[in-house]
Amino acid sequence: MGQDDKASGGAAATEAGRDFIRDIVHADLAAGRVKEVVTRFPPEPNGYLHIGHAKSICLNFGVAGEFGGRCHLRFDDTNPAREEQEYIDAIERDVRWLGFDWGKHLYHASDYFERLYGWAEDLIRAGLAYVDDQSPDQIRENRGTLTEPGKNSPYRERGVEENLDLFRRMRAGEFENGARVLRARIDMASGNINLRDPVLYRIINAPHPRTGDTWKIYPSYDFAHGQSDAIEGITHSICTLEFEDHRPLYDWLIEHLDVPSRPRQYEFARLNLSHTVLSKRVLTLLVRDGHVSGWDDPRMPTLAGLRRRGVPPAAIRDFVKRIGVAKANSLVDVGMLEFSIREQLNRTALRRMAVLRPLKLVIENYPEGQTEELDAVNHPDDPAAGSRKLTFSRELFIERDDFMEDPPKKFFRLAPGREVRLRYAYFVTCREVVRNAEGEVTELRGSYDPATKGGNAPDGRKVKATIHWLSAADAVPAEVRLYNPLFASPDPAGGESFAADLNPASVEVLSEARVEPALADAREGEPVQFERQGYFCRDRDSSPGRPVFNRTVGLRDSFARDLAKEKARG
Ligand code: ATP
Ligand code: MG
Repeated sequence: MGQDDKASGGAAATEAGRDFIRDIVHADLAAGRVKEVVTRFPPEPNGYLHIGHAKSICLNFGVAGEFGGRCHLRFDDTNPAREEQEYIDAIERDVRWLGFDWGKHLYHASDYFERLYGWAEDLIRAGLAYVDDQSPDQIRENRGTLTEPGKNSPYRERGVEENLDLFRRMRAGEFENGARVLRARIDMASGNINLRDPVLYRIINAPHPRTGDTWKIYPSYDFAHGQSDAIEGITHSICTLEFEDHRPLYDWLIEHLDVPSRPRQYEFARLNLSHTVLSKRVLTLLVRDGHVSGWDDPRMPTLAGLRRRGVPPAAIRDFVKRIGVAKANSLVDVGMLEFSIREQLNRTALRRMAVLRPLKLVIENYPEGQTEELDAVNHPDDPAAGSRKLTFSRELFIERDDFMEDPPKKFFRLAPGREVRLRYAYFVTCREVVRNAEGEVTELRGSYDPATKGGNAPDGRKVKATIHWLSAADAVPAEVRLYNPLFASPDPAGGESFAADLNPASVEVLSEARVEPALADAREGEPVQFERQGYFCRDRDSSPGRPVFNRTVGLRDSFARDLAKEKARG
């Protein structure tokens, strides 16, 4: 993989496509509105990163790199009830894996709790914030709707001193969770619900992974985010479209507080991927309720899952580049991600032979006990990748699907009396079909033509198919896991009903597979192409002598093809 595997600013700079965010940054630099572009990626550590986050990471780090600026990694760790150290560690690992480096610019919103608190007091002193004793339900009820204005809280006219006193006692832990909140005093009749006296602080009596028991109150996202941006000197605070309606509040806070810089927020369309749910809440439920084996289950759209499945980081970056950055939401076909994966793996993966569903083929005219070594190239487009030896012998395994006893017209592979080519080896002809008591085919018997060594007949006769094979004696037993989309429907329900949309056939485990000896000690995660099958990589569930392989992606887009067929059928 080598070079392709790292995304450093320099190389990316020339390849990067233009989009409206890059246009804005370019214009700001050209006009001197900003001297150095500073962006940030601000995950909340309440779950693992997914491919949607990758879009945001590539955008934030990409823009910073291309324009000679910097990108911060900032944990938005403002809600200790939901956040965990495991997630913090996983996020750092996954951003690095994707190929990005925040250098020394690792920050936490919790680093700013004291300053944020001070600003909240400033707002109280300016008459722009108040402590509200209404219950969470009352606050919700009085917020109004899109068509009706909200109602002022009975506590809205509290005096500054009383507000300061109560807010300080909230901090000191004198009140129960939910007993009071601090709200900005803006406008309960605003057309923008986010400006109807938004909550700035909540009482949450829970230990924080970084600040321990210091705090009993925690800032809301809206109060923490913009001010954290201002503290860090972020110039372009890039987020997804859901935050467009929050921008007036973002700007209001920046205007009314004595913050050290003036960041601006820009919104882009989040990534939605077909057959995939990119909601941390749903992903958490998938893990918690055991629908998948964990956050890194290879069916998960998390970066940890994609990595375990064998997807190289360069493929994800390529995908993100291809989909671009727009202002309108859309649904991207998961086939596009698979395209980028194939593109990448086709270049990097060494070719190997594996038989997923073995059927024995005995070559009756090949001497018992004899073996020979045949050369097989490691990569058809890369002579430097060299070659390896494959052992040929009397007893082979071929793919069960490559044989049909009563083949339809367009089936050109093995059938009784028919000759095919064994890849890198000889022409063979099927002579006899052996069955068990149940009538199932258990073995084929056939013959080979010694003159066709290497795959061509001196008499010029042709065969219509080339199939893969393994020598039965030295093939290594393996488990192969074939993955299909986790969700059956193209646009799965993101809410409570997601479980009904799960694809019952999202994984197929083949426990009788065989792989060539060279694969016995493949490295975990190293991509290989099983010839004619797809791209695979060794899974960490492997044990000595029994490797486990995950299918990263098939060779062709069989999924899209099946769907098209279904559609055509109506
Ligand atoms: P939640 O806030 O509900 O926990 P989230 O997916 O927004 O979920 P964050 O950790 O807040 O999670 O996300 C970090 C950053 O990634 C945010 O700036 C967010 O806008 C961005 N992001 C999240 N999901 C996507 C997506 N599907 N496409 C693009 N960017 C995304
Ligand atoms: Mg969020």
